[in-house]
Amino acid sequence: MNLNGKNAIITGGSRGIGKEIALILAKNGADIVINYSNNAKKATEVVDMIKDMGRNAYAIKADISKMDEAKKLIKEAYEKFEKIDILVNNAGITRDNLIMRMKEEEWDDVIEVNLKGTFNVSKSIIRKMMKQKSGSIINISSVVGITGNPGQCNYAASKAGIIGFTKSLSKEIGKKNIRVNAIAPGFIQTEMTDNLNEDIKEEYLKNISLGKFGSALDVANAVLFLSSDLSQYITGQTIVVDGGLSV
Ligand code: NAP
Repeated sequence: MNLNGKNAIITGGSRGIGKEIALILAKNGADIVINYSNNAKKATEVVDMIKDMGRNAYAIKADISKMDEAKKLIKEAYEKFEKIDILVNNAGITRDNLIMRMKEEEWDDVIEVNLKGTFNVSKSIIRKMMKQKSGSIINISSVVGITGNPGQCNYAASKAGIIGFTKSLSKEIGKKNIRVNAIAPGFIQTEMTDNLNEDIKEEYLKNISLGKFGSALDVANAVLFLSSDLSQYITGQTIVVDGGLSV
C-alpha cells in the first residue's frame, strides 16, 4: 500500500502493537512520530529501525492522559512535519480486578489513559486536520469493549467508550474529509497479555475459531488498510481482529 508523502503519529508506539503499527506504516512509505510515556530506550529503538528503512522518525515523550501533554505532543509533531495525515490512538493500559476488589484509582487510571487519552490527542489535532481537509484517525479499542469481560469493568468501559467516541467523531468531521474508525483486537501476544496466567490463556484459546492467538502484525495490517486510500469510503466503523473470538 502506498503511504508515500504521508505522516503519522502513533501513541504508545514504543512497544507491542504500537511498535508494529509504526514499522508497517513506515515500510509502506510514511514518516512517523512515535509517542511513549516512560520507555525512552524502546522508543529510540523503534525510531532507529524506521530510519534504517530510509524514512524519517521521531520519538516524543508525553503522557496522553494529561491534556497539556497531549497538546504538546501535537505541537511538537507539527514542528517536525508540515501535516499529519494519520493519527493512531493506540496507547492503553490494563488494571484488572473484580469490581468487589477494584480500587477507585484502578478505574480512574484506565479511563484516563485509554478513553480520556484518546479524547485528548484527537481534540488536540482536530483543528489542524480540519484545515488540511483530510486525515484518518484510527482508535484501538478491544473486543472486550463489545463483549465485556469479568475482571475488566474499567477496561471494557474504556474500550466501549472508544467505539462510541469513534462513531460520534466520524459524524462530526466526515464532511471535512476526515475518517475516524476503530479496531477491536482480540487476544494479541504482547507484554500486556504475557502476564496472564496459563489457565486464562487456555480458556481464551478454546474460544478462538482460528485456534491461535493474534500477533501485533495482524492488528497493524488492519491499521495499514484504514490509513490508506483503499478504505477511503469507510468511516465510523469498528473492525474486529480477533480470529473469531467474539463470534
Ligand atoms: P503494551 O505492549 O503494554 O504497550 C503499551 C504502549 O502504550 C507502550 O508504548 C506505552 O509506553 C504506551 N503508554 C501507556 N500509557 C501511556 C500514556 N499514559 N501515555 C502515552 N503512552 C502510554 O500494550 P499493547 O498490548 O501493545 O496494546 C496496545 C493497544 O492495543 C492498547 O490500547 C490495548 O488496550 C489494545 N489492545 C491490546 C490487546 C492485546 O491482546 N494485547 C487486545 C485488545 C486491545 P511506554 O513504553 O513508554 O510505557
